[in-house]
Amino acid sequence: MNAYAPCPQCGGTKAQKIRFTWWGGVLGPRILTHVKCPDCGKAFNGKSGKDNTSGIVLYSIAVGAVILGLVVVMFAALAALMVATR
Ligand SMILES: [Zn+2]
Repeated sequence: MNAYAPCPQCGGTKAQKIRFTWWGGVLGPRILTHVKCPDCGKAFNGKSGKDNTSGIVLYSIAVGAVILGLVVVMFAALAALMVATR
């Protein structure tokens, strides 16, 4: 029994969960239910049965925004510290 949607490319139903991806580490594929078809190698969303590209783009933007936010906060804190200790 397989809980994932059939492959959008070949219709295969043996999709396997992907544990790690270059774009999402271990968390990204979990959030997006990213699975891979062993028959044709197509990776897709195991919940919707559709291509996950838009989800990956959104995930990357979200991660990028979080990292950018952290960098901005870090520099703001550093600047505040420099002003405070001058
Ligand atoms: Zn397939």
